[in-house]
Amino acid sequence: MKLSEPATHRGGLSGAPDAGMVSCQWWPEAKRIPSSNRDARPAGLVPDLIVIHAISLPPGEFGGPFIAQLFTNSLDPNEHPSFAEIAALRVSAHVVIARDGQALQFVPFDERAWHAGVSSWRGRERCNDFSIGIELEGCDALPFTATQYVVLGRLIRWLRDRFPRLSGEHALAGHSDIAPGRKTDPGPFFDWALLAAHLDGSAKA
Ligand SMILES: [Zn+2]
Repeated sequence: MKLSEPATHRGGLSGAPDAGMVSCQWWPEAKRIPSSNRDARPAGLVPDLIVIHAISLPPGEFGGPFIAQLFTNSLDPNEHPSFAEIAALRVSAHVVIARDGQALQFVPFDERAWHAGVSSWRGRERCNDFSIGIELEGCDALPFTATQYVVLGRLIRWLRDRFPRLSGEHALAGHSDIAPGRKTDPGPFFDWALLAAHLDGSAKA
């Protein structure tokens, strides 16, 4: 891990001797790349929704550094024609899961990441207030990788252990569910049944 980070955040996997000292706001499996595109949640609010997104930069291309650059306000608008109109956006997600399964975390879970935009879920607006945003590297036109489902399932189970309200019946949604007509991600290839199988343990790892 290249980033320097506070010792209290350098947690091992669960079960490590210092597990009790580890903040539950950073997933130990994720590489930390703190973003300034975050702020406090409304007082007393704990997350009760996970929003699944998909992103690829440039659109349809995988493996570059550009998603992390976008989420840390360091994307070069001249790097690709499609970047000019997004480079100035101030956006982030809590976690990005790349095609190879590598997880990057940009915002601690107790803070608000700027991923949902104008949104509404079951009568509540401003979903950033009460949600955790997870981006899968992907697009509307291709399946996600098997490894991404494995890692996503592991992350959601870890989150549910720490934020019990994330186990609720309506605690999982796609960006397209909370911003219908405006957003299409994670798209038609996202396999909700396969995710469910990973969450209930019926999928083979
Ligand atoms: Zn999205």
